[in-house]
Amino acid sequence: MANGDYSFDTVKVRGGYDPKAHNLAVSVPIYQTASFELGDTERVERLLRFKELGFVYTRLGNPTVQVLEERIAALDGGSAAIAVGSGMAAVTYALFNVAEGGGRILTTRNLYGGTEDSFKKLFPTFGIGIDQVDNADDVDQFRRGIKPETRAIFVESISNPNATLLDLERIAAVAHENGIPLIVDNTFATPYLFNPLKHGADIVVYSATKALGGHGNTIAGVIVEGGAFDWGNGKFPQFTKPHYLLRDDTGVERSFLEITSEFPFTLRVRLNYLVYFGAVLSPFDAYLILQGVETLSERVQKQVTNTEKIIRYLESKGEVAG
Ligand SMILES: *Cc1c(COP(=O)(O)O)cnc(C)c1O
Repeated sequence: MANGDYSFDTVKVRGGYDPKAHNLAVSVPIYQTASFELGDTERVERLLRFKELGFVYTRLGNPTVQVLEERIAALDGGSAAIAVGSGMAAVTYALFNVAEGGGRILTTRNLYGGTEDSFKKLFPTFGIGIDQVDNADDVDQFRRGIKPETRAIFVESISNPNATLLDLERIAAVAHENGIPLIVDNTFATPYLFNPLKHGADIVVYSATKALGGHGNTIAGVIVEGGAFDWGNGKFPQFTKPHYLLRDDTGVERSFLEITSEFPFTLRVRLNYLVYFGAVLSPFDAYLILQGVETLSERVQKQVTNTEKIIRYLESKGEVAG
């Protein structure tokens, strides 16, 4: 799903969608259905054993939602993505997926309010500890902040609301020295301005409610997986332990890493958190986000141009320090 030879603007309108698989429809169809015909018992068997990838029930996956997932993965250069019902679901599911069962998350103090509140009030009640560095510009604070139970560093590439920036590559290096992933909330930047995976991040999360959707009419979230992190390094048994949903033909349970080394993270979010916590994105909402993504470059470029004008105006005023 890499961008290949196609430009950003081609991928934003075409990525993840093959009209030949959808009656040659030019616009991505809305598959407004809760479930799908399973066919005969042999096909059900193949679906359950992951020998055939097909749709079963929209809480697990849906063709319209899948186009959005593949398009965002392509725009970010990821190996896969999973769309969920909100940005908060994307943040929570991504962090639970690494830190469940007593892990800790190391983060900054420059966070979206909902994320900050959930870190303070909700994550600890689920047994997930949160540590925050005081000064995110001091990369050594990240190094010193890592504890034996730390399972990820989580940052916002451009923080909401203060728009603080970070030395992402050096923070990624600290994470990787410690065998843990860097998870980046890239909501403000969008893949148009910044691709965290190209600067050391392993997982990217989005509130698609904001610039990706762009029209203020839909709540949605996306988690993108880079595909390069080694989940088998001993710190993440949830990826190497046999899982009851991953049985082979003989009934033997396999692990997420045995099923796929390319996208074990998003597959695990899907089969644990999306399936059981259930913050599913509706096909119609996925369609609305896809419509928004088609004009992502034009809208964000206009915002950048307007911002530059405002900066130049303010700089021309003696009262404002540059
Ligand atoms: C809005 C926002 C979220 C939460 O997204 P919702 O879609 O409102 O749930 C998370 N992170 C950032 C940076 C945001 O701006």
